[in-house]
Amino acid sequence: MQGPPKRLRVAICGAGIGGLTLALALSQYPDIEIELYEAAATLTEVGAGVGVFPRPWKIIQMLGLEQDLLKTSERKPKQGPVPAFNWRKSDQQVGFTFTTLVTNGTLITLHRADFQSVLLRRLPPSCRVNCSKRLRTYTQRQFGPTELIFEDGSRTFCDVLVGADGLKSATRRAFLSERAQWMQTQRRWQEAEDIASCIDPVWSGTIAYRALIPGERLRAAAPGHPVLTTPTQYLGKNGYIIAYPISHGKMINFVAFTCRHDLENTKFDGPWVGPSDASQFAGLFAHWEPEVQALIHCVENPLRWAIHTVKPLRSFVSGHTVLIGDAAHAMTPHQGSGAGQAIEDAYILATVLGHRSTTRENLPRALRIFDEIRRPAATSVVEASRMNGRYFSFEVDGVDFDRYTGPQLWDKLQKLNGALVKNWEWTWTTSVDGSIQDALRMLEMEIIVSGGAKGSNT
Ligand SMILES: Cc1cc2nc3c(=O)[nH]c(=O)nc-3n(C[C@H](O)[C@H](O)[C@H](O)COP(=O)(O)OP(=O)(O)OC[C@H]3O[C@@H](n4cnc5c(N)ncnc54)[C@H](O)[C@@H]3O)c2cc1C
Repeated sequence: MQGPPKRLRVAICGAGIGGLTLALALSQYPDIEIELYEAAATLTEVGAGVGVFPRPWKIIQMLGLEQDLLKTSERKPKQGPVPAFNWRKSDQQVGFTFTTLVTNGTLITLHRADFQSVLLRRLPPSCRVNCSKRLRTYTQRQFGPTELIFEDGSRTFCDVLVGADGLKSATRRAFLSERAQWMQTQRRWQEAEDIASCIDPVWSGTIAYRALIPGERLRAAAPGHPVLTTPTQYLGKNGYIIAYPISHGKMINFVAFTCRHDLENTKFDGPWVGPSDASQFAGLFAHWEPEVQALIHCVENPLRWAIHTVKPLRSFVSGHTVLIGDAAHAMTPHQGSGAGQAIEDAYILATVLGHRSTTRENLPRALRIFDEIRRPAATSVVEASRMNGRYFSFEVDGVDFDRYTGPQLWDKLQKLNGALVKNWEWTWTTSVDGSIQDALRMLEMEIIVSGGAKGSNT
């Protein structure tokens, strides 16, 4: 027997952290139909760690995922000041810790695969995940449903298309191509060019070498190594390393970055992700302190990632199509906030779509509210993350840290610490509640102004 007709049919393209979180958040609204379309044949996350700050963690709590996720993490959420990372100056023979980053609330560190499997387990059966469905493009009209066209030739319809399809988003490509073409018909050549320039991601100038080190291996090679228990960042000129335990210390998440800031926003020559040559990789950090050498010694076959970003978009919304997560604002990983921002997008989008006043007819209003709240916020995180990358690799106001020693060096490092904390503290000093309240207030306000949804008592 068929149930009552659905208020909205939402198609989510991409079942990464953003898409799955959105599906789960939307599943709280029984009158919304949810279909997920994922390009991969099966849902498997790449083995790596992910850090989650208090803002997105609040959403994880609201979605009821906290207990399941905490079973997989050695870190427990605490209120108030919590040490998050030790920061060391490491590009020399004898490194030293110059500060400990203290956050307000815990930075929870997780294994991505654990995160994804918890999200998947919680999805209700009504929420269908269709694998091997790679979106090619879509067509939308001002009124009526949007048609999705997949690479296998199949087609389907929805009321709202959510592009959660990551860095190389096909949704973003179709969305921006359509807008650029429209600008051309209006002879607005420069705007058409600007929009088209956001279709393809740009290289950030940074390469990341990622690996998971078995905790046992590090324990055997370097008993009592600090990262077995303490998240640590090793900083130096033109690069840095981050390492922290995940999955109850069974693994150490390891990422080493090399930065060429002068090459930011250029085209990367070569494959974006691939294997790296272990000895070439080790050579990049050969002059760094022994703690770093011990870690590098334990790294096998690091994966090399050329870190790409998406240039700031003028809107995350076009008609009945909306972008979230990396599809909308892929950023550098230097604030550990890309996934957190995808989670925030997902929750705010679910809030506006799920609201009692949102219907097929007034969808553009709900999507505009999403864009007004999330785009400025995400855009400022993109920039803050970019700045963190500069600070971590000692690219600060032309200061050459190698020229200083003793108290002068210490003073420069404390100034760097101050700049980093100021740039990053939004993640633990602000709350996501404000954004949720803003969304609800804007939705309610528009009901009053338009005189709509009268008599509704939900
Ligand atoms: C080295 C590194 C470290 C990081 N560390 C952190 C961290 O500590 N904390 C943090 O918050 N963030 C971190 N990030 C960022 C984070 O990984 C991303 O921001 C996040 O995964 C984005 O989620 P998403 O769902 O938007 O995209 P994705 O996770 O990329 O998911 C996109 C999904 O869409 C699918 N897809 C792609 N194309 C199509 C198509 N045409 N049709 C259908 N499906 C499609 C893909 O298969 C995939 O499943 C890091 C990133 C890197 C590179």
